[in-house]
Amino acid sequence: MSCCDELARLMDRDFARNTQVYQLTDGRILNEIDTEYFLVFGGERRWFAGINYCPFCGRAISRGLWNQEMEK
Ligand SMILES: [Zn+2]
Repeated sequence: MSCCDELARLMDRDFARNTQVYQLTDGRILNEIDTEYFLVFGGERRWFAGINYCPFCGRAISRGLWNQEMEK
């Protein structure tokens, strides 16, 4: 599911999510990147930051970037 073990470990702890943006109902989304990958901040009230690239292995993981690649 994820690009590398480091990101998978974050997902295990719910510090990162691989999900559709509309399924993030338990917090606020900080940006408008077209992606299915989010970093999770905060505690009871969560903040989600969509990411284009994996912060560990640097691979492009967002849907938006993939779409841009397809259009080239
Ligand atoms: Zn990665």
